[in-house]
Amino acid sequence: MRFSAFSIFKEALGGNRGWKPQWRDPAPKPHYDVIIVGGGGHGLATAYYLAKEFGIANVAVLEKSWLGSGNIGRNTTIIRSNYMLPGNEPFYELSMKLWEGLEQDFNFNAMISQRGVINLFHSDGQRDTYARRGNSALLEGADAELLNPGQLKEIAPFLNFNHARFPIFGGLMQRRGGTARHDAVAWGYGRGADMRGIDIIQNCDVTGIIRKNGLVTGVETSKGTIGCNRLALATAGHSTITANMADLRLPIESHVLQAFVSEGLKPAIDNVITFGMGHFYISQSDKGGLVFGGDIDGYNSYARRGGLYTVEHVFETGLSMIPGLSRSKVLRTWGGVMDMSMDGSPIIDKTPVPNLYLNTGWCYGGFKATPASGFTFAHLIAKNEPHPVTRQMRLDRFERGYSIDEGGKGPQPNLH
Ligand SMILES: Cc1cc2nc3c(=O)[nH]c(=O)nc-3n(C[C@H](O)[C@H](O)[C@H](O)COP(=O)(O)OP(=O)(O)OC[C@H]3O[C@@H](n4cnc5c(N)ncnc54)[C@H](O)[C@@H]3O)c2cc1C
Repeated sequence: MRFSAFSIFKEALGGNRGWKPQWRDPAPKPHYDVIIVGGGGHGLATAYYLAKEFGIANVAVLEKSWLGSGNIGRNTTIIRSNYMLPGNEPFYELSMKLWEGLEQDFNFNAMISQRGVINLFHSDGQRDTYARRGNSALLEGADAELLNPGQLKEIAPFLNFNHARFPIFGGLMQRRGGTARHDAVAWGYGRGADMRGIDIIQNCDVTGIIRKNGLVTGVETSKGTIGCNRLALATAGHSTITANMADLRLPIESHVLQAFVSEGLKPAIDNVITFGMGHFYISQSDKGGLVFGGDIDGYNSYARRGGLYTVEHVFETGLSMIPGLSRSKVLRTWGGVMDMSMDGSPIIDKTPVPNLYLNTGWCYGGFKATPASGFTFAHLIAKNEPHPVTRQMRLDRFERGYSIDEGGKGPQPNLH
């Protein structure tokens, strides 16, 4: 069923009783060309592009819970491509271009809103750093603009410009950045993959990887054994567990990241705004809730909830940036399990285990990467060679000394 203004009007007249489920609920077949483990944003996008771009549709996505139950449905929905390093920026700019055509491409309303992302800076030195980052983005064809305090005051008068410790000197703006409705992205990719014949199998926990003479030949699951020619892991915060099933130890740690939403307020914050003297980012959803977050909790965990000390830390940082926040009430908080790599950048690569492909290391930033991650991971699986924009996102870069340290902060998850 295609979505259009006409179909919505027709269904409204019929009491909206004609809508059908947007994807099937198939039983697993004994064997697939490709199995993707993980029905999050990246697994579903990979399946979609495998079928659409590379004509490989004998594919199953195995998800241990329900479609979109992981980080894809738990993030703060920010999309942007204002990265700096050559190992990252072309990839994120490809993602931004895919975002810009995504709703038409998969015929689903993902509420993509290019409302602009502003990174605040608070000193002359930080202005220089941000100018450099903006220039790097411009060189890769992305957009970037330095705003002075006067321009910023017109856009966001509620900011704490004269903070005693963190006065605001301006902001780096990417106008094409913004937000997208996270779970609609999962639904859109899932529906698009299903329409092309891919089996999305929910409640199917992968418990083991089967190998013959070293080669991956299938998986053990809670729904039985399923064979495959190629196996792709897109399990985000659980990557170390699934890779361990093939005796692979990854340079990844799992950490909890919390997010917060306030009660619904009148429109106040038009853009996504991030603080430059601490980790804090905020936007306002279409329902009026202020959506915000900060740092990871800082200890390894698979729990999707965090500690109160991080709540306090995030609120303190937020109030430094927008004192008026103290008058809004927080409605909900939640957490997600993050796949933190040691340099803060992702891994999209083959593994030393034949027929096993890996997609992980998304840290704070995997939602914005979803389209390019799916596209380039599908390219890797289909052609058995990396897409040009992921050439540096290799698994062995840590042992070779070629890390992509985007933040320039060193090799620890709590620094990224
Ligand atoms: C609070 C929070 C805020 C964030 N904010 C942003 C943001 O604003 N912008 C941004 O770009 N990024 C953000 N992120 C990061 C982003 O959400 C993630 O990097 C991205 O969603 C990870 O990829 P995914 O969607 O495939 O992961 P997931 O949705 O987590 O998908 C992985 C799936 O694998 C499944 N799985 C795991 N093990 C198995 C198994 N053994 N068998 C079968 N299935 C399995 C899981 O159930 C899960 O559904 C945020 C993350 C969090 C937690």
